[in-house]
Amino acid sequence: MPRSRTLEPVVPQTIPPASVAVRATALRKVHGTGSTAVTALEHADLDVHRGTFTAVMGPSGSGKSTLVHCLAGLDEPTSGVVWVGGRQLTGLRDDELTRLRRDHVGFVFQAFNLLPVLDARANIELPSTMAGRRVDRAWFDDVVTRLGIADRLSHLPSQLSGGQQQRVAIARALLSRPDVVFADEPTGNLDSRSGAQVLSMLRASTREVQQTVIMVTHDPVAAAYADRVVLLADGRVAGELHEPTADSVLQALSRLGA
Ligand code: ADP
Ligand code: MG
Repeated sequence: MPRSRTLEPVVPQTIPPASVAVRATALRKVHGTGSTAVTALEHADLDVHRGTFTAVMGPSGSGKSTLVHCLAGLDEPTSGVVWVGGRQLTGLRDDELTRLRRDHVGFVFQAFNLLPVLDARANIELPSTMAGRRVDRAWFDDVVTRLGIADRLSHLPSQLSGGQQQRVAIARALLSRPDVVFADEPTGNLDSRSGAQVLSMLRASTREVQQTVIMVTHDPVAAAYADRVVLLADGRVAGELHEPTADSVLQALSRLGA
């Protein structure tokens, strides 16, 4: 029996201008089916400009992780369209999506996700090695110098502090000059001083090399490092703040009932 499909409104397939690194149009995501189906994204629209630092915030269950997973090509939206760097993710085959993620998207995770048996240099180079890409030596040196880990490259992750491990993870994400770096609670496992360093470096990457960064956080102090805060509620973009401060973020969140 054919699966029943909900008819969705037709979405205009406008290619975003080059100034837009990530675009989501009418994004909808239903997890599961039947009586256990949960609508995580209802109708999310978002443009993220190149070289900007965006924080995604909202109450628990508002769809933050689902949104970022759909934008990063890690999860498939039920309907709607996502573009990364002018490429439409929707409708790509699995191998095309894998290649797009590998070549055009960087990830920084709360738990660092470094390989324990590889030293810092090998961890940073791993995605390039696996993709058969040559490492741009000058860019590598520039990135590790900016991140303050140039003298830690032969250390194993276990020989590095949490803040240093996260800076290795940022270097790994930046090395391929991706269209966008997604950071999911990147300071969640760090003390406030290391967290501040990591946030400063993510922000510096947007200022100095026009990297685009999208970060999920529940911390108003972390969000204040961003240029813009996108507020989610019930799977929709419920508002945004420009040049946020910890206070303005707290107020906006309390208005959302977070
Ligand atoms: P947030 O990150 O803001 O806490 P999520 O995107 O994780 O929100 O979740 C949004 C909603 O979707 C929640 O109700 C959550 O329980 C549900 N959800 C998320 N992932 C799944 C999944 N894999 N299967 C079923 N429901 C899910
Ligand atoms: Mg989440």
